[in-house]
Amino acid sequence: MTPGEALAAECARFTAMGWMRGTSGNLSVVVDRDPLRLAVTISGKDKGELTPDDVVIIDEHGETEDPVRVPSAEAGLHGRIAAVAGAGAVVHVHALAPVVAAEFWPEGVELRDLEMLKGFGRQAHDDVVTIPVVANSQDMRVLGDAFEASFRKDVPALIVARHGVYVWGDDLHQARHRLECLEWLLRFKVETRRERR
Ligand SMILES: [Zn+2]
Repeated sequence: MTPGEALAAECARFTAMGWMRGTSGNLSVVVDRDPLRLAVTISGKDKGELTPDDVVIIDEHGETEDPVRVPSAEAGLHGRIAAVAGAGAVVHVHALAPVVAAEFWPEGVELRDLEMLKGFGRQAHDDVVTIPVVANSQDMRVLGDAFEASFRKDVPALIVARHGVYVWGDDLHQARHRLECLEWLLRFKVETRRERR
């Protein structure tokens, strides 16, 4: 499967989950490490209708040499995450649960004692996972600096307050599984907040 085919398939899947409404969200996959190059979804398209051609190659700053295709405005953060975290794939969606969780826990969302943490690469017991929250910005350098300041090697996710969530992994499958599990975890956290903090 080409990077374009893989990204289009993942976008269709996340759209069906209701996580890429309108033209929101963007996904990327690393196609070269040295120098770092990523295939990222292009700007402004309905993510449920992407074709394998609707991707563009960017460098770690989100810049492209493509004369036609325009990368997502958030491509710079994808590049930064791939560079800093060593990720092979980065998924960014506008799911609701992460954004609501960030309203309640703006200093970071703490998760513990949940079976689904295993799907996030952590343990179901005796493990505390804090998902970092950073303020939203239209400046990818500001967002990138905030990501790097909050980055921990064992937490492959970042919530951008009032915006959405980034999750990454070694490849698209791992990133997808982590996103699916994290969205469940955050939904649980929000829906049980009166009983449990
Ligand atoms: Zn976004």
